[in-house]
Amino acid sequence: MSKKQGIGTRCVHAGYNPGKGEPRQIPIYQSTTFKYETSDQMGRLFDLEESGYFYTRLQNPTNDIVAAQLASLEGGVAGMLTSSGQAANLFACLNLCSAGDHIVSAGNIYGGTFNLLGTTLPKMGIEVTFVNPDDDEQTLNAAFRPNTKLLFGETLSNPGVEVLDIEKFARIAHSHGVPLIVDNTFPTPINLRPIEWGADIVTHSTTKYLDGHGVAVGGALIDSGNFDWEAHADKFPGLTTPDESYHGLVYTQAFGKLAFITKATSQLMRDLGSIQSPQNAFYLHLGIQSLHVRVQRHCQSAQKVAEFLVNHPDVAWVKFPGLPGDSQHEKALKYLPNGSSGVLCLGLKGGRDFDNRFMDALRLVTIETHVADCHSCILHPASHTHRQLSDAQLRAAGIDPGLMRLSIGLEDADDIIEDLNQALEAAHV
Ligand SMILES: *Cc1c(COP(=O)(O)O)cnc(C)c1O
Repeated sequence: MSKKQGIGTRCVHAGYNPGKGEPRQIPIYQSTTFKYETSDQMGRLFDLEESGYFYTRLQNPTNDIVAAQLASLEGGVAGMLTSSGQAANLFACLNLCSAGDHIVSAGNIYGGTFNLLGTTLPKMGIEVTFVNPDDDEQTLNAAFRPNTKLLFGETLSNPGVEVLDIEKFARIAHSHGVPLIVDNTFPTPINLRPIEWGADIVTHSTTKYLDGHGVAVGGALIDSGNFDWEAHADKFPGLTTPDESYHGLVYTQAFGKLAFITKATSQLMRDLGSIQSPQNAFYLHLGIQSLHVRVQRHCQSAQKVAEFLVNHPDVAWVKFPGLPGDSQHEKALKYLPNGSSGVLCLGLKGGRDFDNRFMDALRLVTIETHVADCHSCILHPASHTHRQLSDAQLRAAGIDPGLMRLSIGLEDADDIIEDLNQALEAAHV
């Protein structure tokens, strides 16, 4: 076997290897349906006896190229694309849990995922216990119940940019006979490949760095193929007992290491229909082809900006794992030696009015509800996403009222720094 290609080469080529006279760039299969010659051919597809495309609500060849590309980058056996990052995390949970089951999740996760796990899944009868991921193993173990089906966390949390101790989380999950599922949106597989540290399933909001240009909302699931569902068969009947909607087929027996993704595709995607459009999958693929070049630049520029801000007299604090004094720095040296992401958080000394004058004075950095694309942008949760809350309520929710999330884009770092500098000056009236 030839040596495994470097990750940059795989960003450009993985998932697609055209033959003679075929398109160099991946084709967009803009078709809802696919043609067959005989009734029997079509019937075999519906029995999952043969693989093939029949309807784009379940599967599409363009999407599958990009899913295979992502599986290669993460070091997994298979992947699937979903319509959003929210759908990816929902599918990861629903593929293993039904009413009466329980999930343990890190509490410092993206607000949308926190709502999904904390509000919507409980309405469906799935209970969730949030834990502080930095607690010791004994405390974390105590959150597990006999009906717990998975442990969830973010490898680098949004917005707090806190680094997950993946080895610790994997050890805890496996000691309870359940998989570790991690959202790897912020580091991307360029900076961190959680499967190498013991994670079983990886999810992404592809809307962020993977797309990287603010073009298309999307998500992805990648399975390592490492979790032994059969060894814990009583916990995962959806994978290890007959699926009556496919004439009694058992996913683990029929598909082995591909059981998790096959079930998510042929059952959840069939029934919930949250597939990414082939056009968006094409945009995503374009983004991933330059991911290794872009991520490096985002990280280098964020490092420069963080070093500028931490030394600025108007800045009260900066959170960025690449700063030697940061609470996450030690974990970052282990899990993110090449950089964390382009996202950092900061607080200013001047109070709420000063914060607003600073943001209004920015010219290059824009105010946006987004992160992780080529445009630098800023968001102030207390004035934007969480504006209905008082300062006391914000603190109770773990959000510093002064916290601003700054996402460093692909502009020249000197221009970003100059813009921040002039806006800090302008905020002094
Ligand atoms: C944005 C985000 C999501 C949700 O993704 P959408 O594509 O917006 O649905 C989930 N997890 C993380 C870490 C995110 O940053």
